[in-house]
Amino acid sequence: MLINSHFGDIKETYLFSEIAKRVNDYKAANPTADIIRLGIGDVTQPLPPVAIQALHEAVDEMARAETFRGYGPEQGYDFLREAIAVHDFKARGCDIEPDEIFVSDGAKSDTANFTDLFGDGNIIGISNPVYPVYLDSNVLAGHAGSPAGDGYQNIRYLDCLEENGFKPQIPDGRLDIVYLCSPNNPSGVALTRDDLKKWVDYALANKTLILYDAAYESFIREDGIPHSIYEIPEARKVAVEFRSFSKTAGFTGLRCAYTVVPKTLEVTMSDSSKPLKLHAMWLRRQTTKFNGVPYIVQRAAAALYTPEGREQIRKTIDLYLENAKTIRSVFEEKGFKVWGGINSPYVWLKVPEGMTSWQFFDELLHRYHIVGTPGSGFGTRGEGYFRLTGFGSPEKTREAAERLRRI
Ligand code: PLP
Repeated sequence: MLINSHFGDIKETYLFSEIAKRVNDYKAANPTADIIRLGIGDVTQPLPPVAIQALHEAVDEMARAETFRGYGPEQGYDFLREAIAVHDFKARGCDIEPDEIFVSDGAKSDTANFTDLFGDGNIIGISNPVYPVYLDSNVLAGHAGSPAGDGYQNIRYLDCLEENGFKPQIPDGRLDIVYLCSPNNPSGVALTRDDLKKWVDYALANKTLILYDAAYESFIREDGIPHSIYEIPEARKVAVEFRSFSKTAGFTGLRCAYTVVPKTLEVTMSDSSKPLKLHAMWLRRQTTKFNGVPYIVQRAAAALYTPEGREQIRKTIDLYLENAKTIRSVFEEKGFKVWGGINSPYVWLKVPEGMTSWQFFDELLHRYHIVGTPGSGFGTRGEGYFRLTGFGSPEKTREAAERLRRI
């Protein structure tokens, strides 16, 4: 049998298994240690009450023959697509129509599945450090090319360094595709309107497709940080946007997200002058391989757009942001260099001189019983940095801050 040989090209990441192993070993040797986990990227607060109520009502509808629903539209029900278009886009002046929105089971699957639309040989820009799915999905699809040195033939790493505020810089050469994530995982840094405009101008000039991951959009609190790439004029011609209810409303277990593919987005194949509409391709891909998100889940998502829903979401995100602020403040007090934690649940810090990310991990675990995530797990440029998150409970986060004050 022949298998997809690109599985052999992927670099194993031991990040989360190695963290689990070190924590378990430590616990086995120190059973009374009260360990606080500030490394998690999952939410901890329950679903908003409006979502719970909508779920109950939708379950009751499924119990009656007159209101039962079977297969729904693959792209999502109109009631949800319309709510998204009105509240997430039109309310911010973005010209996005409901039929440009594709409801899905996650931004992880969408960002990975989008690689189905491309051939091999594109030059792909990916930040370093980065959310690993962009790279790994391209490697598995065979689009990254052969492994070469630390990377792959077709991947151009956009180094996100301290000196440029951990923002990806416009490269000298041309990219066919670029992944941008703002507010960023892992660095917590958000791109400003000027930053994004530069990328949109670059994409227009170079016929580059921007794949924009805005999974943490709802954490944006500062003016001057766009909530959508479509706030930038002409972005409709060059960008796809991925959004998720996971971190916005605690849907990490329920599963619902969406992707925006504007109808004005055209790509020209290198061997043809005829432009192709990515909207038509993504519609074809989804209708072929995906059968939609459960009705009850879409009802829960739609409930988030009611005034009560929006209020409830905001309160929970404020709680996570307060946690992030608590973590950020204690490291600032101690003289650490810190990024993120303002428009993002992620706090990114520089580990003390002479230490690696993993040495700092051990130090926090052994001396303070706190678990974080070594920056080196997100790419070579993450070495020397460390990620903590605001997703814990407020009590545990405050206790962790007290312990860290002793650093
Ligand atoms: N994009 C980024 C940047 C993320 O950090 C995550 C989850 O951690 C996702 C996408 C995945 O979101 P979802 O739960 O919708 O698959």
